[in-house]
This record gives sequence, C-alpha cells and structure tokens, in this order.
Amino acid sequence: MSFQAPKGTFDWLPPRSEQVLAVREALVAPVRRAGYGYIETPVFEDTQLFARGVGESTDIVSKEMYTFPDKAGRSLTLRPEGTASVVRAVLQHNLHNGQLPVKLWYSGSQFRYERAQKGRYRHFWQVGAEALGSEDPAIDAELIVLAAQGFASLGLREVRLLVNSLGDQTCRPAYRAALQEFLRGLDLDEDTRARIEINPLRVLDDKRPEVQAQLGGAPLVVDHLCAACKSYHEEVRALLTAAGVAFEDDPRLVRGLDYYTRTTFEFLHGGLGSQSAIGGGGRYDGLSEMLGGPPLPSVGWALGVDRTFLAMEAEGLIAEAAPGRVQVYGVALGDDARRRMFLLVHELRQAGVSADMAFGGKGLKGAMKGADRSGARFALILGERDLAAKAVQLKDLTTAEQTEVPLAQVVDVLKGKVQ
Ligand code: AMP
Repeated sequence: MSFQAPKGTFDWLPPRSEQVLAVREALVAPVRRAGYGYIETPVFEDTQLFARGVGESTDIVSKEMYTFPDKAGRSLTLRPEGTASVVRAVLQHNLHNGQLPVKLWYSGSQFRYERAQKGRYRHFWQVGAEALGSEDPAIDAELIVLAAQGFASLGLREVRLLVNSLGDQTCRPAYRAALQEFLRGLDLDEDTRARIEINPLRVLDDKRPEVQAQLGGAPLVVDHLCAACKSYHEEVRALLTAAGVAFEDDPRLVRGLDYYTRTTFEFLHGGLGSQSAIGGGGRYDGLSEMLGGPPLPSVGWALGVDRTFLAMEAEGLIAEAAPGRVQVYGVALGDDARRRMFLLVHELRQAGVSADMAFGGKGLKGAMKGADRSGARFALILGERDLAAKAVQLKDLTTAEQTEVPLAQVVDVLKGKVQ
C-alpha cells in the first residue's frame, strides 16, 4: 500500500510548482512597491484567537477548523486565515504604537476542513496584505488597487471586482434589526433561523437557491448607511475610479467572516465555475478590540494563490512547455571524466550559469536523453579522450552544432552564450 496526500490536499510539482511561485511573486510585487513589510506568523495559534477573531458563528469556526490539543493540553488551531494572526502579532509587539498605518503582507498555507472540490481545498495558499491603524478611504482604495494590479500583471482579463459597504456601529444595528425582521417572515430551516438571530447578514450569503429565491425583497445595507459611512464609501469609489480600476457595486456582498465593517470587496473570475472568488477583503475596524487591543481601524485582503493559478489556466496563461530547468547539462563518460564534470558543473554554478549533469553512470544515450529533458540549451560532453586533450565538446541542443572548447575556457565561453 502506498500513501496518498490527505483528502482535499494536493502536491505542487515541477514545473507547475515553479510557475505558481511566479504567480505568488507577481501578486505581492505591487504591495511591496507600496511599502508593505513582510510578516511571518506561526501556522498554528491559540484556538481562542480564531474563535474570537473570526467569530463563533462563522462556518470557519463552527465547522472548518483543524483544532487539536498539544502535549500540554493547550488547544491549538491550524490557521484558517491570516488576519487574526497579523492583528495578534501587531498588538503583541506594540507595532501599533509606532508609525500608522502599519502595513504588512504575508504569504502561506491556510487550513479549512471544507467540502473538497476543484478550487476548494483543505490546505491552500493565500497571500495577504493588511494596513492597520488608519481610518482613511485612501488606504482602502490603495489596497483594492494593489490587488487589481497584481491580477492585471498576470494578464488576467476575466476578473470582476465587486464592492460594498457594510456600515459601522452607528448604522449597522438598525439595518441588522430591519433585516432580522424581514428574515423572520421567510420559510427557512431551523439552522438558518438560528443564524438570523446570531448573524443575519450571513443569511444573505446563503448560496442555496431555495433561500436566494426568498431574498429578493430583503432590505439592503446601502439604504441604511449613516452619513459618515456613505461619504466614506463614496470616497473609496471615487478613488478607485480615479485610478482606473473598474468595479461593480454589489449591495448584497457580505463576507463569511464576522469582523468586517464598512468597505468589503471581492474579486471573482469567470473561468472557475462555482468557486469563483480569487480574492477578497475589507475593513475590520472592530477586530483589535475583539482581541483585547485598543481601537485600531484596519483594512486588508487575502488572495487565493491556488485559485489564481486555476484562473490563469482557464485563460490559457500558463505555458504548456516547461521552461528549461537549467541552461547547461553535463554528460561525462568514464570515472575520471565524471569527477572533472562534477567540478565543472560546480564552477558553472558559481559563475551564475545554472547547470546539472547526468548522475548514476548512464551511458551516452541515456545521458543525452537527460540533457534533452532538462530543457538545457547546451550540453557539455566529456570523454576520456577529451579529458586527455584538456577540452570538452560543447553541443548547442537547438541546432545540434558541436564545437570543441578548451576546459580552461569553457566557463567563460558559456557565460557569454547564456547571458
Ligand atoms: P477568505 O479568507 O475566505 O476571504 O478567502 C480569500 C481567498 O482565498 C478566496 O477568494 C479564495 O481565492 C481563497 N480561498 C479561500 N478558501 C479556499 C479554499 N478552501 N481553497 C482554495 N482557495 C481558497
């Protein structure tokens, strides 16, 4: 019996694993250019951090967390998202007492016990960015623009951006009450009825057609925004427009986490079927206080790296032909030649030329096959006779042209050819 990766997980293998790394780099390049600093937090945290920070009534906390006791009996949870950890780290290290906003980005694995399907995994990869400690529509707009730039830089064309405002402590209670009154009059199952009392906004997010069919007349938060929330939202929208970022107003956009206030947004891709969200985020002004910190109005997003890759595949943006693994591939015949090749490959790498060689004592034919598979432009062939002549055969694998080069010069010659 052989092992398989656990259900809902998969392995990234070359060459796709290299391509997905490039996708991650492209998604974070805009935030790095905007002065966001890198933060790395633990993959597991105190369970209570997520219970309080993400919210007990959310699907994530109530159904999807990988929670376990450690050997000392502490309850730990594999992180299902990044924001709660970032806020915890900012508060723990007093970063919020310095220059505001604190701008941070992260990248890493997230874990959710979800129903596995294409685009929805139990272990997936997000990059995220957070700006903590500023209440300024320009910072909301900045983050949205940076995410849009990341997707655009990958060549993605079928991306839609939805934006909404969820109001704040001033206007949300009245809206919440109006929504609850509306929802209580509908024909809903018991679980959903219970949700009306705990987190009625999330009923709007229920994807089941029998629920959606009844929500046509639901009151919308846009119609209940207080003056401050309304002008804040108008300013975010105006800045997006000024930056040339296209968006759609979606008055029904609510998100699955409890901590959002005011600005919320989601990026969708047309080529992904039901799991169409490739990123999302929003403002979470109350989260710091929920975690025992001072008021720290903040905004952030997380983008799904795996799903962005799937979106690129759907648009034909992932090259089928694997890029060359190395530039040069060494083929040596005989023990002495192999020892010399080992050294030559080392010298090439030190000179900045990527190089590999045939291992395992293959014959010429097998070794040349390895050269082809490596995607290298050049093969270096070294036999006993070449060694005696202090030379090596340099073969251009694209033209099959072969020339003899003195061993003492081959590193310089190749450096000139591959640059
Ligand atoms: P969220 O933290 O739920 O707002 O998710 C942010 C982004 O992460 C989503 O837009 C997806 O692109 C990605 N994502 C969330 N859950 C999963 C999952 N189970 N599998 C793959 N990607 C996910």
